[in-house]
Amino acid sequence: MQIAINKAHFPISVLGPGRRIGIWMQGCSIHCPGCVSRDTWAPDAGRNMPLAQLLAWCRDVSGGRLDGVTISGGEPFDQPAALAALLDGLAHWRKSKNLDFDLLCYSGYPHARLAERHADLLARLDALIPEPYVDTLPLTQLWRGSSNQTLVTLSERGRARYAPYLDAVADSLGKRMQMGVDGRRVWFAGIPARGDMERLEALCKERGLDLQDRSWSRA
Ligand code: SF4
Repeated sequence: MQIAINKAHFPISVLGPGRRIGIWMQGCSIHCPGCVSRDTWAPDAGRNMPLAQLLAWCRDVSGGRLDGVTISGGEPFDQPAALAALLDGLAHWRKSKNLDFDLLCYSGYPHARLAERHADLLARLDALIPEPYVDTLPLTQLWRGSSNQTLVTLSERGRARYAPYLDAVADSLGKRMQMGVDGRRVWFAGIPARGDMERLEALCKERGLDLQDRSWSRA
């Protein structure tokens, strides 16, 4: 089984509770205006990797000391077979090692559509943040980019872990973005406030760092 991945990092602490593995899948057919992750839109066979390799990386990089896995994109549900296999592999690892991490997935599709077409995938998750990003709506809630997006718990583990956060406001945990550098690529994780990326870009430029091929640029 192959899975198309834009990037994967550990630890991620701005997209769900605790220290998490973050996996960003490649390819999104939804194209929300204002999306800051335009680099994930194009389906790209060059970003395919064996699922077994990704699962081995998850085990190695975390050493089993993780609170959760966040799957984002891109649109994870645009690769339903790969997503199912990824969730099965993570669940098998969790059970075989008696771990207690949760599985959270973002989607730009409405919850009702996912429930109708992908109930099998929802049954594998602990929590879901569905609905498209709408840049004319405010960023009000923790881990969500616009106020139409919901946090849905889907399992006992999900209900227990996410109960304190269901109505949490965007800044309730303070830090909202993480960044890192892979070679010539600078990556950001988290939910930027409106205008944050442009402000960051301007600050970098002031200091002599000219960011190019920006994933948030509409140009
Ligand atoms: S916000 Fe998510 S669903 Fe919307 S275009 Fe961007 S990657 Fe796709």
